Amino acid sequence: MTASHSDQSDALASATRVVVKIGSALLVDRKTGDLRTDWLAAIAEDIAAQKAAGKDVILVSSGSIALGRGLLGLPQTALPLEQSQAAAACGQIRLAHAWAEALAKHGLTTAQVLVTLEDSADRRRYLNARATMSTLLAHGAVPIVNENDTVATDEIRYGDNDRLAAQIAVTTGADLLILLSDVDGLYTGNPNDDPTAQHLAIIDDITPQIEAMAGDAGSGLSKGGMKTKVMAAKTATASGCAMIIMHGADNHPLQRLTSGARHTTFTATTDPHAARKRWIAAMKSQGTLHVDEGANRALHNGKSLLPAGITRVEGSFGRGDPVTLRAPDGTTLGQGLARYTAEEARLIAGHQSREIEEILGYPGRAVLIHRDDMAL
Ligand code: GLU
Repeated sequence: MTASHSDQSDALASATRVVVKIGSALLVDRKTGDLRTDWLAAIAEDIAAQKAAGKDVILVSSGSIALGRGLLGLPQTALPLEQSQAAAACGQIRLAHAWAEALAKHGLTTAQVLVTLEDSADRRRYLNARATMSTLLAHGAVPIVNENDTVATDEIRYGDNDRLAAQIAVTTGADLLILLSDVDGLYTGNPNDDPTAQHLAIIDDITPQIEAMAGDAGSGLSKGGMKTKVMAAKTATASGCAMIIMHGADNHPLQRLTSGARHTTFTATTDPHAARKRWIAAMKSQGTLHVDEGANRALHNGKSLLPAGITRVEGSFGRGDPVTLRAPDGTTLGQGLARYTAEEARLIAGHQSREIEEILGYPGRAVLIHRDDMAL
């Protein structure tokens, strides 16, 4: 084991932005359909402790369908789509309310964020979701995310919250994703019927062999769920976010993780910052912004690009589209995602940010390209 391996047990301690995925079975008692209020109160304490330690915490919480069944008097068996969507509509209110109450006891403000697959597939919606999440986090709120089950039809569904949680981790640039599960990690075989099955503590590389372990029917206590977890790990780790699978049903899972509860860690293969830069750099540019000497210097010093520093706008691009940045001597500086359309950029080029509202007729964003959206 290398030093980085032993450090992994401190993945939570060293993380700055953590996404915690909470499955329905943890929050809702299967038999009664009621909320597991003690468990909820205990994890709210864990979350408050993480917030107090200065971390951003985002929850991806399931449970809307499980809670909604009871509220609508539907059976605990598999439901047809329209019934599960109706259950989600009722249960989501209850779910969000439960989180808001539990976290308010610790002085924390919650925010409900409901998304569908399209919100990450479409770049403009993705960037918008990212901006909203970062604003919520900057104001200390705890976003409670779920799929918008009531309106999501099959083609636009994540379908499972493991996948949704991985996407949220990527969108928000989180450095740790914790899946609270009914298993304590990935095994080489099914520990129920294979006495030689080994628990895997650390996975640095998701090889086809690892995928096969997760994919075997019934392996690793998976109930078919381990495969989606390993897929989630692929998404997260490639974007610089480590992922932990641990057993979550006992009270205080995050506290237990800190004190060494058994889990599997998938280590990140890059950092979120570098992954995002590569993502931006790989896009096809839709236009060019020529910048003046002042802006050129500012960009080299890690600043955002303001309208004032633009001398010329080429091409036709929309908000969120990638554009090339060019220095006064014609050298290409890199590219970034524009926060204005080409038409708007032409109008505000060379102007101070405070003049934007007068020129465009509405108060726009102060920067044309934010430094987080640039690959130089
Ligand atoms: N979004 C669903 C719910 O809140 C759960 C999906 C999942 O747990 O994977 O009920």
